[in-house]
Amino acid sequence: MKKIYSLNFLSRFLFLILTPVFFQYSALGFIWHSIYWGVITFVLIIWTVLILISPLFGRIGCGWFCFMGTVTDYGGNHAFHKTKWKKPKLWTRVLILIPFFASAVIFYFLNKERGITHGFTIIPTFLKPELNEHYKIVWMGDVSFALIMSLFLDKRWACKNLCMMGTLCAAGATYSRLIPVVDAGKCTRCGKCENECLVKIPIIDYVKQNKGLVTNSECILCGKCAEVCRFDAIKLKFIWSRDKYKNRIESLVTDQQELVSSKDGPRLEMQIK
Ligand code: SF4
Ligand code: SF4
Ligand code: SF4
Repeated sequence: MKKIYSLNFLSRFLFLILTPVFFQYSALGFIWHSIYWGVITFVLIIWTVLILISPLFGRIGCGWFCFMGTVTDYGGNHAFHKTKWKKPKLWTRVLILIPFFASAVIFYFLNKERGITHGFTIIPTFLKPELNEHYKIVWMGDVSFALIMSLFLDKRWACKNLCMMGTLCAAGATYSRLIPVVDAGKCTRCGKCENECLVKIPIIDYVKQNKGLVTNSECILCGKCAEVCRFDAIKLKFIWSRDKYKNRIESLVTDQQELVSSKDGPRLEMQIK
């Protein structure tokens, strides 16, 4: 589990350097253009898969693959001021999501009238090669935007408040089965994990109030918290039923308390310690 963040780092690095290559040779394109032209492009397939798996694997796309997220985290680590956890703003997310999809759908129907849509056939490399230069510039613009935002604002501010992909994946990640889980018995509440968390998630609050289940839909499953914990108290785990897990922890605690308060209490208490 300690190595998970090293793997994460490798994955992010590879995807960061490979994205311009995808842009150049696969004409990656935007989801907006996919809808606009009525084609299923490479990027539309990627988006759809990442959104569909989010109730199972949470924000894995945001933490392991997205080059914007990688740049944002790099900038966040060198930000000009320290920030605390702040909840995402629903209104900014909605304000961006609705015009984005509404405009793409309107243009799709206008193009359909003109007979230049493609009936949503699968053409992964649909966008014409001469547009590739344009996408290299877009890539540089994206990277610069992510860097500037992260240097001046909260950690992952743009991911939490602007990105449409982030909004849709966060909706699924609310139910994610793969989550960080803290063993409250081992946790000393030192706070190192939440200080190092790339999103600044208040992990100790989840230890106090949620039996150690870090059910935060902004968690990007990077594993940094697990890596930095000196007590090996935090791991990424599949939790199929959150309620069952919490009940199990509850009954373990009750059993332990009963043992301690039984007539052998003092002796058992020493053993438990
Ligand atoms: S929220 Fe958007 S920009 Fe941020 S990591 Fe996820 S997909 Fe990338
Ligand atoms: S770093 Fe480990 S021991 Fe410290 S608060 Fe986090 S989970 Fe608990
Ligand atoms: S809680 Fe842990 S896994 Fe989730 S984003 Fe923070 S450091 Fe990464």
